[in-house]
Amino acid sequence: MNREEILKTLDKYNLNKDECIILSGASLVAQGITKNTNDIDIATTTNFYNSLNWQKKIGALGKEIKFIDNLEISNNLYEPEKVVNINGYKFANLDFVLEVKEMLFRLKDKNIIKNLRNQLYNKSLLNFLGTGDMSNYKLKNTSAYIKFDKTMLLIDCGMTTYHELLKKDLLNNLDEIYIAITHTHPDHVGSLTALILYLHFGTNVKINVIVNKSFYEQENHLKNLLKSQGANENYYNFIDISEINSFFKINSKRINHCPELDSYAYEIIVDDETTYYYLGDNNDIEFYQNTLLKLRKNDYIFTDISNKKSNVHLNLYEIQKCTPLDKRSQIYLMHFNEEDTIVLANELGFMVAAEE
Ligand SMILES: [Zn+2]
Ligand SMILES: [Zn+2]
Repeated sequence: MNREEILKTLDKYNLNKDECIILSGASLVAQGITKNTNDIDIATTTNFYNSLNWQKKIGALGKEIKFIDNLEISNNLYEPEKVVNINGYKFANLDFVLEVKEMLFRLKDKNIIKNLRNQLYNKSLLNFLGTGDMSNYKLKNTSAYIKFDKTMLLIDCGMTTYHELLKKDLLNNLDEIYIAITHTHPDHVGSLTALILYLHFGTNVKINVIVNKSFYEQENHLKNLLKSQGANENYYNFIDISEINSFFKINSKRINHCPELDSYAYEIIVDDETTYYYLGDNNDIEFYQNTLLKLRKNDYIFTDISNKKSNVHLNLYEIQKCTPLDKRSQIYLMHFNEEDTIVLANELGFMVAAEE
């Protein structure tokens, strides 16, 4: 059914316009988000529901609903303050549609959930330059950035990252770059020095390497790494997270990954309502669970994942166990070892980080 057919059907069954709210698919069509729907789901008051002589069955929420042709009506989900008016009918607004779709969580709705989230919340979701692990040359090393005006925040700069930045022409037209490093495995810092040398000698971009001064060894490790590869301290600035004055705010926390290295997770605060929790490489299920508890409806978690048993990476089945279905559209998985993990992650309803 397209928009006209929906409105015609509603008129045909003489629904009480004050006491009915058109939900989900039909509401998206009416608001021009999608083109077609197979049926019309309606929420209504108990009064109007009881007055209908339609057939009964059990609906998606496990409760009784009534139906006729391709109309289904229930007295659940009647929330008259979450609507928009179209042709005299009340349609669930986009926030409400998303809320219901996330509650019901059907895999076929995954893309529309993602689109709705993009329309409603994502002012500047992270862009990925790669989503693979150290060996996945097809997906390239996991690294992400956000750009606002002439400032870029780059997270990690693995072996493939510098070339991707050049290939995508992202270093032109920059005034300032902030670089946050999760840890010093080569797939996270492998081309950091190359990037700094290029920016220092070839451009006027101000280079800030983000550190947290309360983790005293972080600055030293990075300084020594860069120095050993020919990038002196006067080629770039270390900036403490507390001193950043830019389009984002950022905090860092220690996270468990491997015994050889210190690893850090970042909380990137985009605005009052949106925080991206970038966990990077980790095997820290407790950290993941605690982050999950903090997650507001506009927040996102980005974490590495493996579908194998691993001492250094989070396991897909372990996070499946502790992640409620209605939260999975806010969890982006990355750092893939193989294609199979992506297929499985999708099947389980998680979001999969992908290069633009
Ligand atoms: Zn890695
Ligand atoms: Zn690592």
